[in-house]
Amino acid sequence: MPDHFQLSLDTAPYKGTLSLNTGLFINGEFVDGIEGQKVDVTNPTTGKTITSVCAGTSKDVDVAVEVAYKAYKTSWGLKVPGSTRGRILYKLADLVQEHGKEIMALEVLNTGKPWSIARDIDIKNSIDVLRYYAGWADKVHGKTIETTENKLAYTRHEPYGVVGVIVPWNWPLMTLLCKIAPALATGNTVVAKPSEITPLTALKLAGMLSQAGVPPGVVNIVNGYGPTVGEAMSHHPLIRKISFTGSTLVGRRIQEASAKSNLKVVSLELGGKSPNIIFDDANIEQAVKWASMGVFLNKGEACIAGSRIFVQEGIYDAFVKALGNVGRSFDAATGDPFSPGTVHGPQASKVHFERIMGYIEAGKSGGATLICGGERRGNDGYFVKPTVFADCTPDMKIVREEIFGPVASVIKFKTEEEVIEMANDSTYGLACGLFTENSSRAIRVAHALEAGMAFVNSYGNTDISVPFGGSKQSGFGRELGAYALDTFTQVKAVHINIGQKL
Ligand code: NAD
Repeated sequence: MPDHFQLSLDTAPYKGTLSLNTGLFINGEFVDGIEGQKVDVTNPTTGKTITSVCAGTSKDVDVAVEVAYKAYKTSWGLKVPGSTRGRILYKLADLVQEHGKEIMALEVLNTGKPWSIARDIDIKNSIDVLRYYAGWADKVHGKTIETTENKLAYTRHEPYGVVGVIVPWNWPLMTLLCKIAPALATGNTVVAKPSEITPLTALKLAGMLSQAGVPPGVVNIVNGYGPTVGEAMSHHPLIRKISFTGSTLVGRRIQEASAKSNLKVVSLELGGKSPNIIFDDANIEQAVKWASMGVFLNKGEACIAGSRIFVQEGIYDAFVKALGNVGRSFDAATGDPFSPGTVHGPQASKVHFERIMGYIEAGKSGGATLICGGERRGNDGYFVKPTVFADCTPDMKIVREEIFGPVASVIKFKTEEEVIEMANDSTYGLACGLFTENSSRAIRVAHALEAGMAFVNSYGNTDISVPFGGSKQSGFGRELGAYALDTFTQVKAVHINIGQKL
């Protein structure tokens, strides 16, 4: 029997006991991993171990995929009407809401994100996305198509069968549900792998599935490491589609594995180095607020972070000064993520913290001007001061590579043509932002930038009903909105002879 984790917390927003099973969740029950491996889970605020959870291997993946395949054939998929699947998703949303505070506490404990972020983004979107796709579950349909022949032709949008879901650690439950909700709504069954760094809320969710009415085998959670569990999923011949969020490096591996195994359909939400462009005619106060949230929110651990900030020369000095002030104010509000006033917490893991510090050193030695931050905060946990580098040039490492931390690189520009060229000079193409009061320019530049998402006079305010995803090496396939229904279904064309004789 897998261990049960329990912890009493006495924090301002959460007082009570956190409790969850730490096994793998396969066929509707928690089980030990076949090879008995474990992975430690750390609190990044202290650097101390919270608990350990079972870590699966390829043998557990085999079992999970087989039960998911059986469940697809017998108790989900085309066997269950969309309206029933929708009712189950609504019930799951209610349960997530009911246990919301406990889930937030687990997320804050494990990721170090401030409580306000867990409340306003993670849990809110987790509940909303379940309800959004619950509503879609009985509204997935094809078309009838006029032909010149004497036939009836129509399309069906059918599930793939078993879908593999692999997610990272920055929005652990939210990212998982942005995939699981549309996958289930469209009739697929799921084998999911949370990040080995942040598996706790996925396991909390697992504990609610049967109460919501999700039949055994329909959702399976296999914790563990990427090179074992993730790799086994990517190669598995019965998994017909993988929906992945994570780094470009791993996304490429998954696509290679798909090519070498069964040509599974892959959708990839990958890294970014998104440009945010502030023109001279922008409302500077608004631009500074949005741009700073765009790069410092969630400690900069956001794939769409607007971390390359291009500022036109006329407002450059004023903007840099104001951004530095916001960085310092975030630093002043750094601390225990459970404290109500905290807006900036520790980076999610030691490895990641060290990576960010390496980039900060590269910024300093590469000739950028340090405006604020540039060092760790305190000696405990993985805190990095919000950092602004100015006078950056397009060739610098901190401008070219994704840092995924609270580090802004500011670049001065003169003209619209020049900034479009510089902004597009990236292997990534996830998001972009621009600030201007000139509406023609806003539309022109939004269209010219190579990105899957463009924000005009705001940054990063995504919405669950609007598609989310990247271009270039930031990936392909769309999540959220009605577009995700296409991501999780395949089209079958049916031709019915209504009279033609040979
Ligand atoms: P990562 O790619 O290292 O890991 C992501 C997931 O993939 C984890 O669950 C990991 O265990 C698994 N994995 C690792 N190696 C694997 C392999 N060989 N085969 C299969 N799975 C494997 O990324 P990370 O460090 O967890 O997250 C940070 C990255 O995620 C950043 O690049 C960030 O931009 C990206 N991200 C993108 C989005 C988006 O929507 N575009 C959202 C969040 C994060």
